[in-house]
Amino acid sequence: MSTMVSEGAAELLRMIAGSRTETRASIAHDTGWARGTVNARLDELLDLGLVIDVGATGGSRGRPAARFAFEPTAGSLLVADVGASAARFAHCDLRGAVLSQHEAPIDIAAGPETVLDTVVAELGRLPSRDQVPAWALGVSLPGPIEHPSGRVVSPPIMTGWDGLEVPRVLEPRVGVPVLVENDVNAMAWGEVVSTGRMRDLLFLKVGTGVGAGIVVNGALLRGAQGAAGDLGHTHVGDAGPGRQPLCRCGKRGCVEAYAGGWAMARDLTEAGLEVETAGDVVERVLAGDPLAVDRVREAGRVLGGAIASAVSLVNPAEIVVGGQLSDVGDHLLAGMRERVAAYALPLATRDLVIRTSSRPQDAGLIGLVDTMTRWALEPGRLGEVLSRVGAPQD
Ligand SMILES: [Zn+2]
Repeated sequence: MSTMVSEGAAELLRMIAGSRTETRASIAHDTGWARGTVNARLDELLDLGLVIDVGATGGSRGRPAARFAFEPTAGSLLVADVGASAARFAHCDLRGAVLSQHEAPIDIAAGPETVLDTVVAELGRLPSRDQVPAWALGVSLPGPIEHPSGRVVSPPIMTGWDGLEVPRVLEPRVGVPVLVENDVNAMAWGEVVSTGRMRDLLFLKVGTGVGAGIVVNGALLRGAQGAAGDLGHTHVGDAGPGRQPLCRCGKRGCVEAYAGGWAMARDLTEAGLEVETAGDVVERVLAGDPLAVDRVREAGRVLGGAIASAVSLVNPAEIVVGGQLSDVGDHLLAGMRERVAAYALPLATRDLVIRTSSRPQDAGLIGLVDTMTRWALEPGRLGEVLSRVGAPQD
């Protein structure tokens, strides 16, 4: 591969992308590079359009210093956020500003061939796609993903996907590198990126199913096989209310079989309500239906019991709840708070915050975009990316 950018310039770009702005002096100070080196590397990035001059600082003494910032429109990224029954397709700049997007229904259990055909077709429909060449495609899927191969590993609800190395199948069809991430990991990371401060976080997605993403010491905890955080299919045990209901994964007594949107819909239907989906449950709760409110509160208690051990083990600063059911807010969170306080260690819960996601619609997209941008800026990769798409023109 021909390299169109020096490693030194790429290193500088990583630094500038990781901060708001830099001046020539701040770069020299932080890197120890000679002034001539700083200027040469900066010129390289300015020529490529990857960095722009955003104007001078208003210094009180001497000549104002020019400030430089990462230019997120220099490249673009594709996102396919694939859920169990619907998917969102987007074309974004390198910071996640959406250029075009749409949603489409999908049935994950229809198997990889059908689903990936849909993904390729829907990505082709993004109208902005031809304007800025994409650097990569990020795909999130509702199952355990081996990292970094992007192989689906023993997914509980993705019939026919086990063992499939998604990038190997998709890359030749979409013509760009493909990064695959578990959907809840993408959301957890998106929460970290959009708040810009959290280092220890447990993200809980409560939609049709239940899953968790764990961030420890500023990095995603993936586990040996990529299955870390699969909270939905852990066993509630004898503490579970009533019977041991059958789960979608084939086992009995999973957290999801009590607290997933599908399980709530099942119980409310049995109770005589016309409820089919997780969205219907949310609608009933927001309308104030007492049966639905009670059922969601019970789900919150089951979830709280399930995460209490994780809270003691990992000691997160925050538990962030996303997914469709997070729309009911405190009806779900109250039971969680109650059980976590009762079951977890006092030191781990003293300052623990339990709240809903700060970006409920976009956390997954933001997480994927950040992961792809970091991937593109890794040592040795930027030159390869630029020589494939052609240098950005200004
Ligand atoms: Zn299960």
